[in-house]
Amino acid sequence: MATYRQLLGGIVTGKARVDTLVKTKVPQLVRIECTIDQSDIDSVERLYPVVQRGIRGGFFPPNRSHYLCSRKYCAFWRECQREYGGKVE
Ligand code: SF4
Repeated sequence: MATYRQLLGGIVTGKARVDTLVKTKVPQLVRIECTIDQSDIDSVERLYPVVQRGIRGGFFPPNRSHYLCSRKYCAFWRECQREYGGKVE
Protein backbone atom coordinates (compact mmCIF):
# COMPACT_ATOMS: atom_id res chain seq x y z
CA MET A 1 0.00 0.00 0.00
CA ALA A 2 2.84 2.37 0.79
CA THR A 3 4.30 1.71 -2.65
CA TYR A 4 1.03 2.61 -4.35
CA ARG A 5 0.85 5.76 -2.27
CA GLN A 6 4.33 6.75 -3.35
CA LEU A 7 3.60 6.02 -7.00
CA LEU A 8 0.41 8.09 -6.95
CA GLY A 9 2.01 11.00 -5.13
CA GLY A 10 -0.21 13.66 -3.66
CA ILE A 11 -3.46 12.57 -5.32
CA VAL A 12 -4.25 9.93 -2.68
CA THR A 13 -4.97 10.25 1.04
CA GLY A 14 -2.92 7.33 2.34
CA LYS A 15 -6.04 5.54 3.54
CA ALA A 16 -6.84 2.28 1.81
CA ARG A 17 -8.99 -0.77 2.02
CA VAL A 18 -8.08 -4.12 0.52
CA ASP A 19 -11.07 -6.30 -0.37
CA THR A 20 -10.19 -9.95 -0.84
CA LEU A 21 -12.47 -12.77 -1.86
CA VAL A 22 -11.41 -15.90 0.00
CA LYS A 23 -12.11 -19.31 -1.47
CA THR A 24 -13.33 -21.31 1.51
CA LYS A 25 -16.28 -23.68 1.89
CA VAL A 26 -18.43 -20.59 2.12
CA PRO A 27 -16.73 -17.83 0.11
CA GLN A 28 -15.90 -14.80 2.22
CA LEU A 29 -15.18 -11.17 1.59
CA VAL A 30 -12.32 -10.08 3.86
CA ARG A 31 -11.75 -6.35 4.22
CA ILE A 32 -8.54 -4.94 5.62
CA GLU A 33 -8.24 -1.21 6.17
CA CYS A 34 -4.95 0.57 6.60
CA THR A 35 -3.51 4.04 6.80
CA ILE A 36 -0.09 4.76 5.37
CA ASP A 37 1.98 6.91 7.72
CA GLN A 38 5.41 8.48 7.52
CA SER A 39 7.15 5.35 8.82
CA ASP A 40 5.66 3.34 5.92
CA ILE A 41 6.85 5.96 3.44
CA ASP A 42 10.32 5.94 5.04
CA SER A 43 10.40 2.17 4.69
CA VAL A 44 9.64 2.31 0.96
CA GLU A 45 12.21 5.05 0.38
CA ARG A 46 14.96 3.19 2.25
CA LEU A 47 14.33 -0.44 1.38
CA TYR A 48 13.75 -0.15 -2.36
CA PRO A 49 17.22 1.26 -3.08
CA VAL A 50 18.72 -1.60 -1.06
CA VAL A 51 16.76 -4.12 -3.12
CA GLN A 52 17.77 -2.32 -6.33
CA ARG A 53 21.47 -2.54 -5.40
CA GLY A 54 21.04 -6.23 -4.60
CA ILE A 55 19.40 -6.97 -7.95
CA ARG A 56 22.02 -5.00 -9.87
CA GLY A 57 24.72 -6.87 -7.97
CA GLY A 58 23.13 -10.23 -8.69
CA PHE A 59 22.29 -10.89 -5.05
CA PHE A 60 18.97 -12.67 -4.54
CA PRO A 61 18.67 -13.85 -0.96
CA PRO A 62 16.16 -16.60 -0.24
CA ASN A 63 12.92 -15.56 1.41
CA ARG A 64 12.04 -18.59 3.46
CA SER A 65 9.34 -16.76 5.39
CA HIS A 66 7.24 -16.15 2.28
CA TYR A 67 3.93 -18.00 2.32
CA LEU A 68 4.71 -19.63 -1.03
CA CYS A 69 8.09 -20.90 0.11
CA SER A 70 7.60 -24.64 0.32
CA ARG A 71 8.52 -27.86 -1.41
CA LYS A 72 5.00 -27.93 -2.77
CA TYR A 73 4.97 -24.49 -4.39
CA CYS A 74 8.61 -23.78 -5.27
CA ALA A 75 10.20 -25.74 -8.10
CA PHE A 76 13.67 -24.59 -6.98
CA TRP A 77 13.62 -25.68 -3.36
CA ARG A 78 16.38 -28.31 -3.86
CA GLU A 79 18.75 -25.80 -5.48
CA CYS A 80 17.84 -23.26 -2.79
CA GLN A 81 18.68 -25.69 0.01
CA ARG A 82 21.91 -26.70 -1.72
CA GLU A 83 23.03 -23.08 -2.20
CA TYR A 84 21.86 -21.49 1.05
CA GLY A 85 21.54 -24.42 3.43
CA GLY A 86 18.75 -24.76 5.91
CA LYS A 87 15.62 -26.72 5.23
CA VAL A 88 12.63 -25.88 3.04
CA GLU A 89 9.59 -27.43 4.66
S1 SF4 B 1 12.72 -22.50 -1.60
FE1 SF4 B 1 12.03 -21.31 -3.35
S2 SF4 B 1 10.58 -19.85 -2.52
FE2 SF4 B 1 11.76 -20.65 -0.80
S3 SF4 B 1 13.43 -19.18 -0.58
FE3 SF4 B 1 14.17 -20.81 -1.87
S4 SF4 B 1 13.81 -20.11 -3.96
FE4 SF4 B 1 12.57 -18.83 -2.57
